[in-house]
Amino acid sequence: MGVSRDTLERIKAALDPLEVVREAVPSLKQSGVRWKGNCPFHNERTPSFYFQPEKGLWHCFGACQEGGDILAFVMKLEGLSFPEALRELAHRTGIVLDWDKTDDAASRRAKERDALLGLVEEAAGFYRDSLRGLAEAEVARRTLAQRGVRPETVERFRLGYAPRREGFLDRALKRGVAIELLLKAGLAARSDRTGRYQDTLSGRLIFPIRDAYGQVVAFGGRVLEEDAGPKYINSPETPVYTKGRHLYGLYEGRTALRDRGQGVVVEGYMDVVGLHQAGVERAVAPLGTGFTAEQSKLLRRYAQEAVMLFDPDPAGQRASWRTADVLLKDDVFVRVAQVPDGLDPDEYVQAKGAAALEKILTDARDVVDFWLDLLAPSLSGFSDLHGRLRKAEELLRFIGGVPNEVLREEWVKRAAARLDLDAAALKREMFRKGERGPGRTETPASTTAAERRPAALAPAMRTAEEELLQVLGAHPALWPRAEKADGWFADTRCLAVFRHWRDQWKAGDAVEPAAAVAVLGAADGPWLTALLLEGKQFEDPGVALDRALAGLERQATQREMKGLEGELRALARSDPRFGEKFDRHLTLTRRLKAATPETPGPTER
Ligand SMILES: [Zn+2]
Repeated sequence: MGVSRDTLERIKAALDPLEVVREAVPSLKQSGVRWKGNCPFHNERTPSFYFQPEKGLWHCFGACQEGGDILAFVMKLEGLSFPEALRELAHRTGIVLDWDKTDDAASRRAKERDALLGLVEEAAGFYRDSLRGLAEAEVARRTLAQRGVRPETVERFRLGYAPRREGFLDRALKRGVAIELLLKAGLAARSDRTGRYQDTLSGRLIFPIRDAYGQVVAFGGRVLEEDAGPKYINSPETPVYTKGRHLYGLYEGRTALRDRGQGVVVEGYMDVVGLHQAGVERAVAPLGTGFTAEQSKLLRRYAQEAVMLFDPDPAGQRASWRTADVLLKDDVFVRVAQVPDGLDPDEYVQAKGAAALEKILTDARDVVDFWLDLLAPSLSGFSDLHGRLRKAEELLRFIGGVPNEVLREEWVKRAAARLDLDAAALKREMFRKGERGPGRTETPASTTAAERRPAALAPAMRTAEEELLQVLGAHPALWPRAEKADGWFADTRCLAVFRHWRDQWKAGDAVEPAAAVAVLGAADGPWLTALLLEGKQFEDPGVALDRALAGLERQATQREMKGLEGELRALARSDPRFGEKFDRHLTLTRRLKAATPETPGPTER
């Protein structure tokens, strides 16, 4: 396991599972004892994700058909192993992990993660103190002041300065930190020229990069004054930092993002800092990469709409198309806003104020309309159909790649009107080329088909054994009456769950359904979460229990009789008279049984 049972219990107790899930599923709404919302693991418009806080279980009845406990949720959401997810939750609950001597690969990785994050956190504190107190940091303080960055903003983003001499590397080495760990954390590098180890970011203004939960995972560094080298550099990828998985400003702006349901995507660190300071706290930026699918999914956890606020130069425009393409594939609605007068967003908000910027955001245009506006002047030279089509090819590829069918239809119509083409012909042209967008692997049709599986949402036909578990899962007080069912099970996984719960009940513990999910493992866990979360209501639980028990007993009796019949037949072969009498006896039994009306079982198959 990696940590003591006690620590695990303390983490679970300190955690509010509802909060953890709601963080990732903004659409989560209460519906009876369950909560439901749009699944964070696949795209959908009809909620098929269910969560029951008091059981600590979730299940997606849609395309995923998966479920589990809260740890399984965090593992799937963040792509972490079990010990890594534990570490993540420990951080969120402020509980210190006591790693035991377990030495499997996953535990080793989690322990290393722990050490690296501790080191990165320490570095963040060191950079911050250096910015405040070091004489050498005057140039950094001056730069921030010139940019109008206020002290409370510096604090909010934990901005810092990496000293040139006696930097974090020296300090950590003196303290006995291994150079290997510093290299691995991306805080040191070996100079090609001198062969000596050096601070990666020395002499730079430091922007700590935080994950969605506020933990510092890496740094961005900006050059000061006329220093040589690239204007911005980021930490290299490390075991705790993968490029393209984080958004700058997301942690600081998460409340604003969720409240507005909108994200403002800008290009740089300073834009995020400047916009937040002006009150536009929903601004985020990708970190030195093109906008990735992972960043898009991260944003979608908080907002359904994105306004792109990129520099109006051609590079900025190209970046905005690529970003729009990624976001639209995740069903985030995209609009484009442009800052006038060749200013970048930070400069603009400084000069004109927040209200002026909000106006630009409000006036943001639908991405395809924006594109058509840009395209229109260059189309006037083409009187022929093919010329116009060729010119609009990139736009058509873009529209063709959007999975949302309604949006695609609408855009084809608009594009056809603006390009003076027949909409049907335009659509044919788009599909003739088979252009569903570049690099598209999954077809939108399959997603829709999976989403449209209404049968999966309806409670499945359940056997008497499953129904018994459902009643007991919802009404543990009925256990004393159910204990006798132990010998009646045919389905081994049902029996395993039954026994697991029964042992908890007998030990005087509260029966915790989630624990049985963990016992079943990855193959059968989702079967149980579906069983427990499909929300079957029992008008009279006692009656439902009796019905299930009767069904179980009857099935067990039938199985035993079948076995006996087989044995008797084998015996009969040794004496023909015995066989005759046995057959006669069987016929009479059946005739008698057919004449007696029987109460039908619940969902017997
Ligand atoms: Zn799902």
